[in-house]
Amino acid sequence: MAQRLDPATRDALVERVRFYRDLGLTEFYRRPVDAARLAAWAAAAELTAQSEQAASEPDSQPLQITHASNLVEEAIPTRKPISAPPATGIAARPADPAAALVLIREEIGDCTRCALHKGRNKLVFGDGSPVARLMFVGEGPGADEDAQGLPFVGKAGQLLNNMIAAMGLKREEVYIANVVKCRPPGNRTPEPDEANTCTPFLFKQIDAVRPQVLVALGATAATYLLGQRQPLAGLRGRVHPYRGMQLIVTYHPAYLLRDPRQKKEAWADLQIAMRELGLRKGAVSS
Ligand code: SF4
Repeated sequence: MAQRLDPATRDALVERVRFYRDLGLTEFYRRPVDAARLAAWAAAAELTAQSEQAASEPDSQPLQITHASNLVEEAIPTRKPISAPPATGIAARPADPAAALVLIREEIGDCTRCALHKGRNKLVFGDGSPVARLMFVGEGPGADEDAQGLPFVGKAGQLLNNMIAAMGLKREEVYIANVVKCRPPGNRTPEPDEANTCTPFLFKQIDAVRPQVLVALGATAATYLLGQRQPLAGLRGRVHPYRGMQLIVTYHPAYLLRDPRQKKEAWADLQIAMRELGLRKGAVSS
């Protein structure tokens, strides 16, 4: 008999099961799984099937995505100039990466350097391990992130958490930041002058953490990390040498929520990251 779950655990497990199934993953476990957890997974799988059956009913409501709703997985359309990242500066990781991040946050302060400060509630600096081997870079805060001051905490964040878990990692083991630290109005794509003003802080964060692998989530992150506009299709599926690190480009989780058919492509990209990190293919942390 399936174990009774509290609603939050049930929703998280349903999302996790759905995500793994979309990736084509079935049952790979890195750690032994006890009977109670197996029962919970079975219940989640059952709920996933039930919710998808309900979603196929004609009167079902479409999925509402509140974060990055304007995000398009193409090159940034404007022809305004994009600043290139620091050309060299392959510095060694600072002796105290956590202290370096604190200094960068202090330097940003109550920032008014670009127009995005006018609409923000909370500045979203970054989150995760200062000594992470893997770092994700997204576009900018959405409504949930703006309210909480943390990156990727809404629906797209839940999907990113599942992507991280599918890699056999925990969210607290990676570092997550965005191209801009304040929410663009209506979740629009940041303007080049906004992104160019904010990215020096992102580059400092990258230099503080010095991850082995950087994953650019979506076209905006890829554009400003690489300093060039290119369609996402031409950037995915390979490793870009990046200032002494490995850069991999994949879809933004908000885009994957809109078009779940691309999850397998995203998983292929993440497997490249796993290979670079020496992580076991197909290992799923329960
Ligand atoms: Fe400052 Fe960046 Fe916020 Fe603009 S987006 S106000 S540069 S922290």
